[in-house]
Amino acid sequence: MATKKNKLAEYEKKRDFKKTTEPKAKVKKSKSKLPMFVIQKHNASRLHYDFRLEIDGVLVSWAIPKGPSLDPRVKRLAVQTEDHPMDYGKFEGNIPEGQYGAGPVMVWDYGTYEDIKEDKKGNIIPMEKCLKDGSIKIFLHGEKLKGAFYLIRTSKEISGKKQWLFWKVDDEHADARRNPVSTQDYSVLTGRTTAEIKKKGKIYGD
Ligand code: MN
Repeated sequence: MATKKNKLAEYEKKRDFKKTTEPKAKVKKSKSKLPMFVIQKHNASRLHYDFRLEIDGVLVSWAIPKGPSLDPRVKRLAVQTEDHPMDYGKFEGNIPEGQYGAGPVMVWDYGTYEDIKEDKKGNIIPMEKCLKDGSIKIFLHGEKLKGAFYLIRTSKEISGKKQWLFWKVDDEHADARRNPVSTQDYSVLTGRTTAEIKKKGKIYGD
């Protein structure tokens, strides 16, 4: 059985911590009552939004190329990537040239979430099981994103990476006209744009 430490082995292997200011691999629980989530806008070789959910001491992660949509009819591809340490949730800064994922990282949204996936009897299914089953339903309490979302694994795998679909549940927070990816293009931690992060570098993540 994989230990908690092993969960971050891939994260650790991909990075040279003498060169990048990203957080070191460490498993821990968040202090908040509810588990946390973060979405990081990452201008790497290809722009994507890294969606991360706290599950059992790490941030389970997906790369969403187009970012989230609030339109319940729009399903976004979400490619599962390696688990990240909890401290990554507040990392904002530049990953240096030549390093894995080189480019600016912005904390685009941050908050807590609730597991709202129920079994037939109406009992909440634990997140660890939802993840294994490939069927997640969560309620986000973010600054930009609120309300319920689905994250469902498809049968496809691309280069060994699991493909999921992420989309908005049709609730009172759904809004086909609002597009936060373009209208709220700033950090919820610092208010900075990607260009400003690139210029000034890291202020979070120590
Ligand atoms: Mn990324």
